[in-house]
Amino acid sequence: MKVRSVKGTADVLPEERAAWRRVESAAARVLGNAGAGELSVPVFEYVDVFTKSVGESSDIVVQKEMYVFEDRGGRSLALRPEFTAGIMRAFVEHGMHTRPLPVKLWTMGPAFRAENVQRGRYRQFHQVDYEVVGSESPLADAEAVQLMYAVLEECGLTRHVMLLGSVGDPEDRAAYNAYLREALEPRRDELSEVSRERLRLNPMRILDSKHAGDQALIADLDRPLERLGEASRAHFEQVRRYLDAWGVPYRVDPGIVRGLDYYRRTAFEAHHEGIGAQSALGGGGRYDGLIKLLGGPDLPATGWAFGVERVIDALAEEAAADDGAREPRLFLVPLDEAAVDEAAALAARLREHGTVEFAYQRRAPGKGLAEADRRGATHAALRGASERAAGVWQLKDLATGEQRPASEDDLRALLEFSA
Ligand code: AMP
Repeated sequence: MKVRSVKGTADVLPEERAAWRRVESAAARVLGNAGAGELSVPVFEYVDVFTKSVGESSDIVVQKEMYVFEDRGGRSLALRPEFTAGIMRAFVEHGMHTRPLPVKLWTMGPAFRAENVQRGRYRQFHQVDYEVVGSESPLADAEAVQLMYAVLEECGLTRHVMLLGSVGDPEDRAAYNAYLREALEPRRDELSEVSRERLRLNPMRILDSKHAGDQALIADLDRPLERLGEASRAHFEQVRRYLDAWGVPYRVDPGIVRGLDYYRRTAFEAHHEGIGAQSALGGGGRYDGLIKLLGGPDLPATGWAFGVERVIDALAEEAAADDGAREPRLFLVPLDEAAVDEAAALAARLREHGTVEFAYQRRAPGKGLAEADRRGATHAALRGASERAAGVWQLKDLATGEQRPASEDDLRALLEFSA
């Protein structure tokens, strides 16, 4: 029997890895420059860390999306379905509140949800996650939105849009949920099953329903932004003023709600029209009550996460992953026996400057060039008796077909120039 990967998981093959590295280094650069420290948290935690914090009405809990298992001591553990809970658990455990506030943190890694697999929805997926703890200021919210936009831009995206809304303070949420209940309870039977469950637990989440019937039922109802209290409205307007001042493009979306229960006030998403039905690249918002809930001090926080697979999908859609010149890859083709050792030795010398491979055996020129092409080289350099006599290699640009004699210095310059 042939072994297979689990549905909803994926291998990242060598030719795909460059895009992943690009996302990781964009995050490291942009978030690092904003003073965020990178941290790693475990892939699994006690299940309470997640159930306490994501709230009983979130999809993760309601739709049983969490991978929960018992260890041999009978302890209930779960694979992380998202990062915020684990990071805040670590924040509390390491007493990070004694550091100068606000504390900014970021991480990247896999998360796990037992979802229905489709484009953009996997069971093991990856997120870049940013959190800023210890500030109630709308500056922290605006900066978080700006950083998410900037990381996505640094990844190479040009067509992402930020949507901004507010779910209000807990009182606003409660009042809005009561309003929705009153409006929808009489038409309960017309709602989808998931929305009926949400009506019971957290009616606001019905706005997120992809179900056309649900959308028709709520079409004429007010959105959370239209029913904000005074304090959260002022906070929202201030976030907008900062974003306007900094020139961060965004659209106000009155209906934005976040999947997790601990959000309050600012809620935002990043979208990309190129990646199909699951068009959200990421989302975030303010979650002032969470750290206290996890046994820590009562500190406000804001954060976001985006899905790496979706960003890479969007990059491919924009063909931005390949923009500009390709990094040079040189393939050395020995045309006679003596050139095999020369190629190996030259490769060893040149590799500190860039990517160099060579054929382990003598090759006819045509075969050598075909091999260089198959291996994804941008340039091939060939050497036989006449090149040896002249102290050069025949360098061929595989894209243009141009050919010229090149010394070792020339080859080094080629690799260094675009590295
Ligand atoms: P959430 O934690 O649900 O707010 O998700 C934040 C982002 O993570 C989403 O916008 C997606 O880009 C990504 N994401 C969430 N769940 C999945 C999944 N099952 N597969 C792939 N990406 C996901």
